[in-house]
Amino acid sequence: MANPEANPVTELKCPHCGNTKHERMEVLEEYTHIRELNGIVDGVLVLEGETSTGWDSGENERLSCKECGRDFPFPKDLRVDYT
Ligand SMILES: [Zn+2]
Repeated sequence: MANPEANPVTELKCPHCGNTKHERMEVLEEYTHIRELNGIVDGVLVLEGETSTGWDSGENERLSCKECGRDFPFPKDLRVDYT
């Protein structure tokens, strides 16, 4: 296993189109959206409309390239600061 300290990631590069501009990339992750149940009416499950609660699961976190529209995983040794 590589030591991140010995081999820091200093640049991101889209493996699909070669884009290296970080302002043309973004991070995507799964988000859980919560809806309350209003019950079953005539055999149909009725849900509340829009709700604002939910949470980031941190699942499937990945980079997305705005140049080519494709996703790619974080480089293995990339260190991330969630401020
Ligand atoms: Zn790309």
